Amino acid sequence: IVNWSPFVVSFKKRWVQLAGHAGNFQAGEDGRLLKSYCETEQQCLQQLMGDTLRPFVPGYYGIVQRDDQDYNLMDDLLADFESPSIMDCKMGTRTYLEEELLKARERPRLRKDMYEKMVAVDPEAPTEQERAQQGILKPRYMQWRETLSSTATLGFRIEGIKRADGTCNTNFKKTKSREQVMRSLEDFVGADIQILKLYLQRLKELRTTLEESQFFRTHEVVGSSLLFVHDSSGKACVWMIDFGKTVPLPAPLILDHRTPWREGNREDGYLWGLDNLIDVLSTMLPT
Ligand code: ATP
Ligand code: MG
Ligand code: MG
Repeated sequence: IVNWSPFVVSFKKRWVQLAGHAGNFQAGEDGRLLKSYCETEQQCLQQLMGDTLRPFVPGYYGIVQRDDQDYNLMDDLLADFESPSIMDCKMGTRTYLEEELLKARERPRLRKDMYEKMVAVDPEAPTEQERAQQGILKPRYMQWRETLSSTATLGFRIEGIKRADGTCNTNFKKTKSREQVMRSLEDFVGADIQILKLYLQRLKELRTTLEESQFFRTHEVVGSSLLFVHDSSGKACVWMIDFGKTVPLPAPLILDHRTPWREGNREDGYLWGLDNLIDVLSTMLPT
């Protein structure tokens, strides 16, 4: 069941948030916004300002304080749009870091809460043993969760869509098949072929740039999103956002972001997901 509800947060009539905790963001001045400080993200944004990817990420202006809290100051990507339609696509075949998996394995405990969450979504999911124990291990839960959406099968998933009329849908956790994903993308782009073409062009430029980027080669990029924005004036653009789980690799390790993940290789499937996203959008073009 698709549940359209009024959008989550907005201020200054412009800015809209599709994911994350509402309290993480504050309006800034001059088309900028403040996101709660995270050191990992700060390091990334700073490095990205000197990378070939710079045109594909929000401009970054350093750390600022407000009410005793630290924030990263960056461009509000919606600032130049009029009543924009926006979509957040979380990229990659994995949305937890390898280090999070290692941590989840320390002091293994049977988790009843996670077992219950699993059963609530899919009563068939637990194994016989898990059923007998009425509990599951956290790493198992983390890996199972990735198979619910298109993350594991397509290398990206839709996190949220806000349409120009103000309605918002963040209920895509079980949008999994290529067909379901395509229907949601069609609903987002609408009947506008021009917008679709602009998105495709931008995504292909992004792919070329990612393949050349020193930053991208040397980072495990997990939980990062592509933010799609268009409005009725015919403008459409895509940017990379959310680098809270984008971590540098120990030299001389580099990633191609397409090789399937095997624990230890750190691959995140980001480019594989982008290939699939471009492919799905391409098949939406009229022949
Ligand atoms: P999570 O990790 O749960 O995804 P988060 O707190 O790290 O959340 P982000 O994913 O960075 O937050 O952003 C949440 C939402 O805020 C995005 O889906 C988007 O709608 C909006 N947003 C984030 N950064 C920008 C930006 N620079 N300009 C405009 N909108 C933004
Ligand atoms: Mg996010
Ligand atoms: Mg985040």
